[in-house]
Amino acid sequence: MSDNNNKIIIAIDGHSSCGKSTVAKEIAQKLNYIFIDTGAMYRAVTLYCLRHNLIDNGIVNIPELKNKLDQIKVYFRLNPETQHNDIWLIGENVEQEIRLLAVSNNVSPVAAVAEVRHRLVALQQEMGKSKGIVMDGRDIGTVVFPEAELKIFMTAQPDVRAQRRFDELTLKGESVSYEEIRANIIERDRYDETRKESPLRKADDAIVLDNSFMTRDEQLKWVLSRIAEI
Ligand code: C5P
Repeated sequence: MSDNNNKIIIAIDGHSSCGKSTVAKEIAQKLNYIFIDTGAMYRAVTLYCLRHNLIDNGIVNIPELKNKLDQIKVYFRLNPETQHNDIWLIGENVEQEIRLLAVSNNVSPVAAVAEVRHRLVALQQEMGKSKGIVMDGRDIGTVVFPEAELKIFMTAQPDVRAQRRFDELTLKGESVSYEEIRANIIERDRYDETRKESPLRKADDAIVLDNSFMTRDEQLKWVLSRIAEI
């Protein structure tokens, strides 16, 4: 039996800014699994669109984006300083830039483009084919890995999520208001849940984790217990 036979796929989906990546990263570290933040991939494509004027006022120039898709190389590279898999866009580390609110404000329309999703989903499936992966996003348990052994759907109250994201961005020195962050989170969820192509929804066999009133430690323990049950 090879090692891979013991490894599983953990799919973490859910609402915006409820700490999916944080918990996914911690679990991956504990299990020595690979962590993939699929939101970073959609954000990198969005950054490309912003830089090349392929999005204006929330309207994506879909024909032009489709033409450019082959050139928009998005991939992860290990950052030896942080030991984190940073996201790269055509030869450039864009890990920091993709977190800016300008990207958050434009990512949902880009992520709703079918051709963008098909391409990124294929890359994600390739990354997870040997299992031993924790992947977070919006459609991991429903579309990318419907056969994942553990599916978690994370959520938290919008005010709690907005406060956490506000604290995170202000700590990084970004000048943002709590209200604009709250509005962005709510609008992104609405857009992601109502889009035609792979909308955000809980997989029937996913377990819900509402971490509104949980500490990081409590939620980590919660997920580890679910893993132990498998
Ligand atoms: O996870 P994060 O908040 O960085 O994701 C940014 C956006 O990327 C989401 O609001 C959603 O529009 C899109 N996304 C997606 N499918 C995924 C991951 C992210 O549509 N699997």
